[in-house]
Amino acid sequence: MSTFFNILDIRRGTTVDGPGFRTSIYFAGCNHHCKDCHNPDSWDFNGGKRMSLREILEIIKEEDFNVTLTGGDPLMHPEEIAILAKEINNIGYSIWLYTGYTIEQIQTNPRLSLPLPYLEAIVDGPFLPEEKDPDLLFRGSRNQRIIYMNDLNYYHI
Ligand code: SF4
Repeated sequence: MSTFFNILDIRRGTTVDGPGFRTSIYFAGCNHHCKDCHNPDSWDFNGGKRMSLREILEIIKEEDFNVTLTGGDPLMHPEEIAILAKEINNIGYSIWLYTGYTIEQIQTNPRLSLPLPYLEAIVDGPFLPEEKDPDLLFRGSRNQRIIYMNDLNYYHI
């Protein structure tokens, strides 16, 4: 059975969503509804363009960069994201994932944890305008953390 995703955007060769040049994939749908969200248009689960797993993998291979999964919040679709993340690893690329959930919420929820074994790092937590800091690397507010999965014993496979 094919797996499909609602994709808002795929940015090729970006340098703002993790280290090095990356292919950043923006998934539609988010129910965190952070105050002053940078992109409220991304909240709509039916937004964007419907794309198959195969189409996404082809673009990743074409660009030949490591990958960032963002949105929206990709963990609104943890089962599908786990399937995609495993395939991305299988073709040789590492993954950063941005989510509005905290790592504590993810680790205590078996569904949200499904993609973790396939990720290099998570940037966690909601955007909090009172914690906003434009000087932060790869994240918008000070509460958000860059967490490497190896440090949590989710060994990258
Ligand atoms: S998690 Fe991200 S996309 Fe979702 S509301 Fe917060 S800032 Fe916006």
